[in-house]
Amino acid sequence: MHKATIPREGDLYKVINIENKTFNIHYGYYEENERDKVEPLPVFPDLKKNPAYTADGNPIVTAIQEPCEYYIPLNKERSEEWCGDCISYLDADKEISICGCTERMLE
Ligand code: SF4
Repeated sequence: MHKATIPREGDLYKVINIENKTFNIHYGYYEENERDKVEPLPVFPDLKKNPAYTADGNPIVTAIQEPCEYYIPLNKERSEEWCGDCISYLDADKEISICGCTERMLE
């Protein structure tokens, strides 16, 4: 029987490529006080604090990012309040995606 291995802090979770940008996602903790309580989790970059853009000026966002003022949920009955749940999040299969909102593009 296959035994699941528990990831260790620093292990590579996934590499996500968006256009010419590469995001190496490692296991770790968002908060120092999580360290003794839970197993390491994939830690995604804070693209709200440190924005990244495509060559055309579209923002690159994480699915778990706090939504902006242009957020429109895919399903208004079950709004989840994450970018990944917004109609402008272009690739629902990825944990990081291009935001297609024209209001959010660089000038
Ligand atoms: S418009 Fe873009 S940045 Fe704003 S909530 Fe939707 S996906 Fe996120």
